[in-house]
Amino acid sequence: MELEIVKLRPGDSLLVRAGRLFSGKEDCFRVNVFLFIRGGVIERIFAAPGGEKLKKALKNLGKEEQKEQIPFLDLSRLTILPGLVDCHVHLALDGEDFQKAARSWAAPEEMKKHLARRLANTLARGVLAVRDGGDRAGIGFLAREMIKSGTLFGPHITITGSALRKSGMYGSFLGAGVNKGELAGSLKRLIAAGVDQIKVLVSGIVSFREYGRVGPLQFGPEELNILVAEAHRAGLKVMAHANSDQAVTMAARAGVDSIEHGYFIGRSTLAMLAELDISWVPTVVPVASQVRRSDLFSQEQLRVIEKTYKKQLEAIGEAAVLGVRLGVGTDAGAPGVPHGEGYLEELALYRQAGLKPAFILRAATAGGAKIAGAAQKVGLLEEGRPASLIAVEGNPLADLNALKKIKYCFLS
Ligand SMILES: [Zn+2]
Repeated sequence: MELEIVKLRPGDSLLVRAGRLFSGKEDCFRVNVFLFIRGGVIERIFAAPGGEKLKKALKNLGKEEQKEQIPFLDLSRLTILPGLVDCHVHLALDGEDFQKAARSWAAPEEMKKHLARRLANTLARGVLAVRDGGDRAGIGFLAREMIKSGTLFGPHITITGSALRKSGMYGSFLGAGVNKGELAGSLKRLIAAGVDQIKVLVSGIVSFREYGRVGPLQFGPEELNILVAEAHRAGLKVMAHANSDQAVTMAARAGVDSIEHGYFIGRSTLAMLAELDISWVPTVVPVASQVRRSDLFSQEQLRVIEKTYKKQLEAIGEAAVLGVRLGVGTDAGAPGVPHGEGYLEELALYRQAGLKPAFILRAATAGGAKIAGAAQKVGLLEEGRPASLIAVEGNPLADLNALKKIKYCFLS
């Protein structure tokens, strides 16, 4: 059977039987349950003891519901879990051809087709919410509007608009660049335009030529402190692109909400993130996937790439022990990372870092939902919460590869 996408409408009721249910909380795993869904919300979750017949199960519902002919979906051979969350994507790019992708930014009709395909590929992997890390052409706004207006069924989208970056420094495709004294004005315009979060580039990117080298810092502590305070005053979280331990430390001290990438983050800085309740989205796959590109990189560069992502895996293991909230982010759209496809690979890299499947799934669901500011839409399957869920064959808590066999996505 192919993947079936179920759009839950306000007036619809549905009774679902699940073989297994993972709620999004690390320790919450149940077998043989019914979910009664009404208007896209999980109204009841109740046990279905062995051999239970549907008629008997319906006695758990109120008298009114029992009289209704509630559609029933038997997923007793599947595991139900919250929709997955990708905390870091770039919908404006495709991961294949940067120049070609950028050319369509000025052609809205063509862009809409690209977005429809990128979002369909994302949904097909069970990703029901994404947070966009920005683009300078307003493509994030277009994507969010397509979903909100119902033009397209797709994941919930959190957008950041243009990333705040220093003129002349890394990231020209992410944001126009601000000069000295322009930061407050740029931030004000983003807030007025209706972004969901603020993206700031605190440092450059990692070098594939020299191990441990990172592009220079873009903002100083004072500028960052003001930026974060102003964003928070407007009720917006700040996601900070920060590589090098120095950049991460500065961003954390300024009080950003999430660190993106964070290559070369040190142990004491990880402890600080845990202490300050700052989340980390490590995005390993955009680097790890490059080790396959011997057509693009020299042997020496491939060694640097490998060493870099393995260092990142070590840090992820440490972060888990220290209690840092992790989110899964693929940087989809970055070179070599097409939308949707990188997600399972990122989860496999977390596994390689030594994390247990239940821990990884919590990061991929409830943890990510909090980071992406999408907790009202996805993340936890509990009574009273939206039925944004996926159903997969097998048991992902035993083997994450079960996520390759997604049978249903419920959009509420
Ligand atoms: Zn990014």
